[in-house]
Amino acid sequence: MTTAPIRIAIVGMGKIARDQHLPVIDAAADVSLMATVSPHDDGVAGVPHYRTLSALLGEGPRIDAVALCTPPQARYALAAEAIAHGLHVFLEKPPGATLSEVAALEQLARAARITLFASWHSRFAAGVEPARAWLARRTVEQVSIVWREDARVWHPEQEWIWQPGGLGVFDPGINALSIATHILPRPFYLVDALLERPANRAAPIAATLTFRDTAGATITADLDWRQTGPQTWDIIVATDGGVLRLSEGGAVLSVSGQEHSASHCEYAGLYARFTSLIRAGLSEVDVAPLRLVADAFLRGRTNTVEAFHD
Ligand code: NAP
Repeated sequence: MTTAPIRIAIVGMGKIARDQHLPVIDAAADVSLMATVSPHDDGVAGVPHYRTLSALLGEGPRIDAVALCTPPQARYALAAEAIAHGLHVFLEKPPGATLSEVAALEQLARAARITLFASWHSRFAAGVEPARAWLARRTVEQVSIVWREDARVWHPEQEWIWQPGGLGVFDPGINALSIATHILPRPFYLVDALLERPANRAAPIAATLTFRDTAGATITADLDWRQTGPQTWDIIVATDGGVLRLSEGGAVLSVSGQEHSASHCEYAGLYARFTSLIRAGLSEVDVAPLRLVADAFLRGRTNTVEAFHD
């Protein structure tokens, strides 16, 4: 097994690539940034930049892996091209625009013997693993997820997010579902959904969801992009042993009013996981959060609401 740094290229030089991937790769001893790819960006000083992945693969430096930080609608084609070149693939969340394309990628990755990693950054927030461990010893009675933020603050002029496959309010909402599917001890399934879609958009601005776990506990989710002022990213779990609250997107855990907080970099955790999967010759692709979102689109009712303008 080689322990040389993994030579990586970032594809899609948007907000998440610049906010998280670049600084975390820069600080990581076992990952080296070899190139960047983006159609309308100039990359970073001192690192070769290409307009397309094909150009990088044709003319660029040798690489072992790519981190795909594009919108989900572009993910499948880029991942398939990278796998065909024998590269390991880090998929930003959500891992694709559909479940069937992620299943196809898993098969391609298996046949090519490369690592495919479907990342869920919120699972690496500081409170999530302690919450999972605490809940494993309790009976869950009821769960309330409240994920309310201001789309104008967090997603200004991101056209792809409102288009089919962009998920709308489920783009952040899937982060809550990635935590819930990880910390709750029993599987749960969707029983009802109401999606609210602005008259001028293809994707929902709000969703009210009801799930049930296999022991009958109810899990509700209130996702809304119209919240101005303080923002809310909370999961509250009532159990036979007290109430657990994860707030600030999983960063802060409190159990029966007792707060535990720790500083933690979600993306450092993601890159540590990606490199350990590569070294071990494994893939990790959990589609459970995307499956719940797909179920909401399959089973939910949709109301048309007031047009939304950035
Ligand atoms: P963004 O700011 O709109 O950036 C996406 C970038 O992808 C754009 O800069 C665009 O490049 C590039 N791109 C589009 N098609 C491409 C292609 N075919 N080849 C190469 N590059 C392509 O979006 P974002 O907010 O970073 O989100 C990207 C993904 O990360 C989404 O799936 C999102 O859910 C996830 N994510 C975002 C955040 C966040 O805080 N924003 C947090 C965690 C995860 P050009 O500008 O050069 O055209």
